[in-house]
Amino acid sequence: MIGRDQNSQTLIGFDRAQLADVFATLGVPERAHGMRVSQIWNWVYARGAQEFDQITVLSKDLRAALAERYSLARPEIVTEQVSADGTRKWLLRLAPDRPGTQGPLVETVYIPEETRGTLCISSQVGCTLTCKFCHTGTQKLVRNLRPAEIVGQIMVARDRIGEWPEAEADDSTGLPDAERKITNIVLMGMGEPLYNFDNVRDAMGIAAASDGLGYSKRRITLSTSGVVPEIPRWGQEANTMLAISLHAVRDDLRDELVPINRKWPIAELLDACRAYPSLSNAKRITFEYVMLKGVNDSNADARELVRLLAGIPAKINLIPFNPWPGAPYECSDWEQIEGFAEIVNRAGYASPVRSPRGRDIMAACGQLKSASIKERASARRLEAAVP
Ligand code: SAH
Ligand code: SF4
Repeated sequence: MIGRDQNSQTLIGFDRAQLADVFATLGVPERAHGMRVSQIWNWVYARGAQEFDQITVLSKDLRAALAERYSLARPEIVTEQVSADGTRKWLLRLAPDRPGTQGPLVETVYIPEETRGTLCISSQVGCTLTCKFCHTGTQKLVRNLRPAEIVGQIMVARDRIGEWPEAEADDSTGLPDAERKITNIVLMGMGEPLYNFDNVRDAMGIAAASDGLGYSKRRITLSTSGVVPEIPRWGQEANTMLAISLHAVRDDLRDELVPINRKWPIAELLDACRAYPSLSNAKRITFEYVMLKGVNDSNADARELVRLLAGIPAKINLIPFNPWPGAPYECSDWEQIEGFAEIVNRAGYASPVRSPRGRDIMAACGQLKSASIKERASARRLEAAVP
């Protein structure tokens, strides 16, 4: 978090119960907790306050007491890149895990379209899984993000886009026409969100609170590589929209591409999907399918995909493979992607091809990590240069 004071803990990511505890430790009488919590909640999550002094509904003394121990700091922005297509990527430094060390880095991506804006957030530093086509999976350092660090990514994006009631929206690069600039949140950045279940659930609880950040659960999508036992629990405890990184229609191939399949194969994964709560035509599961040339992109694969998904309210999202240095795959030819999409379409499934966004700044699906690697490399060069 921005280190205005290394000793202060940020309140970003605190839920109502935790905020009530803060007031209790500051000696605020219990009968006033509810009101104080509502006030700070509103100022922090609905209005984007960055300093306690902005929260003038709290007394001067209370603001000073809060500021002594806490802050409203967000993760620190190391770099902000804007793609030619308006996509923005932030490289963020988290608070250090040990005093005297540098905090780890994560990436957050904002993808504006005409009528909506999607914020793609990370759930872990790196990822313990090793999907063969994914750059993030090659990163060594892995740790779970805390709720503060997950919610913090949304706060940073809203700060930078100017999406708070009293702020001016920064419309320098094609923001959507929609009333809100960030209309959708997707957990599709770095990490496997279901391996960080509790923190991601708590963070999404804050993101979905209607009197706070205010993203409806229908506009929050969790993407998983297929942590089958956690899918029903996510349905019960969070019940956001769900996306599944399927990528192959046969277990032998999926074992290779998405190694978690060896633990939980396709049939078990699809059973968990069928049982996901309240599915309907209006609430479908998205199946993500990365198009790898000559690997999983044949017409027979498309037909098998249709057969596998029969009976599940589904959307199929074809993702052209985004290359990264040293990647062992190529993206399918455009005609093949179109042919695949047509088979899926004829079977009655919407199958939008996800147009690659932000490739020039390595912000597209599966490309996240590179900036942090480069940063580490330049830090090493710097160290080497110091006598
Ligand atoms: N770990 C989660 C969420 C993050 S990845 C998951 O795997 O679902 C978001 C999506 O991008 C996933 O479907 C992932 O498989 C896909 N992806 C990863 N690397 C990619 C690449 N190089 N090109 C295109 N899509 C990729
Ligand atoms: Fe992890 Fe998802 Fe990348 Fe697989 S695709 S390595 S689960 S981030």
